Amino acid sequence: MALGEFDLIQRYFVRPAPRAVLGVGDDCAVLALSPGMQLAVSTDMLVEGRHFLSTVSPQHLGHKALAVNLSDLAACGARPLAYTLALSLPRAEEAFLSGLAAGLHALADAHGIDLVGGDTTAGPLNLCITVMGEVPAGQALLRSGAKPGDQLWVSHAPGGGLGDARLALEVFRGTLALPGEGFARVRPAMECPQPRVALGQALRGVASAAIDLSDGLMGDLGHVLRRSGAPDAPLGAVIRFDDLPRSAILADQPQALQAQCLLAGGDDYELLFTAPAAHRARVLESAEATGVMVSCIGSLRAEPGIQVLDGQGQAMPTPWAGFDHFKAG
Ligand code: ADP
Ligand code: MG
Repeated sequence: MALGEFDLIQRYFVRPAPRAVLGVGDDCAVLALSPGMQLAVSTDMLVEGRHFLSTVSPQHLGHKALAVNLSDLAACGARPLAYTLALSLPRAEEAFLSGLAAGLHALADAHGIDLVGGDTTAGPLNLCITVMGEVPAGQALLRSGAKPGDQLWVSHAPGGGLGDARLALEVFRGTLALPGEGFARVRPAMECPQPRVALGQALRGVASAAIDLSDGLMGDLGHVLRRSGAPDAPLGAVIRFDDLPRSAILADQPQALQAQCLLAGGDDYELLFTAPAAHRARVLESAEATGVMVSCIGSLRAEPGIQVLDGQGQAMPTPWAGFDHFKAG
């Protein structure tokens, strides 16, 4: 017999929510905030064909849907508390649901958060998650706050960097073949990103501004420069191309493809942040303490625009705008 809406919720999504005052099953979830903390809230929706391909495993889909949301909390320096899941799916297929739930629950457990509510409906496959976190009052990391002269940093995995998710996407699109193990090595960057939640919290009071990289470095840096500048005078930045961290697989690609993946790849879910030069040691300590690598990739300046310099100090062409769902072809 087909699984009904409430059986489905009960079977796959209701679990003990020990950290919530009230979890799934009532009209609202109820959460308690610690004294002196502010609530940080973020929502991200994943639509099949837009944000993920039908080839992704249900586990990875569940992981990624929550990971991209946790990445937003990370960028604000918030500690995750709980999340809700709004799910539209064509059929209540048990193999799909159990995989999806396993991916969600595993990442939620890794970050000590509970699924406290949601909504479930039949329709095209679409997952919308809202995460809630807490941050000491007034201490959230923001896109604003960067100053001319600040250093520009990006997080990454040991031996990894930006752009691998885009490389994997290009393989799926058929525009690129990666020899040997190459595809297997970059595919997790696209399907199984690791949100930098601990690093984000460690950077409170250290970074001057932060954002998570979802739409490509150039576009996302542009958001920081606009929010940190005056309304009519965005800040500018200089990026040293050779200092952009990249995997050995990406480093083997032609220069133009490397530039596209590194500067405009999208789906990196690394933290891009700025910090005064005097905070350099504290930035490195924050990374060390949280087991994440960070690279200094450039600096901010008052003069607007983003200049990318090659190894000889020459400006490189940067023909990419940030990703925009309504402008993308
Ligand atoms: P309402 O009609 O009041 O919105 P629902 O009948 O839609 O409530 O949902 C019943 C309960 O199940 C609520 O507590 C809701 O938060 C929860 N819920 C629904 N869908 C999900 C889901 N996909 N994951 C977790 N909880 C869910
Ligand atoms: Mg409902």
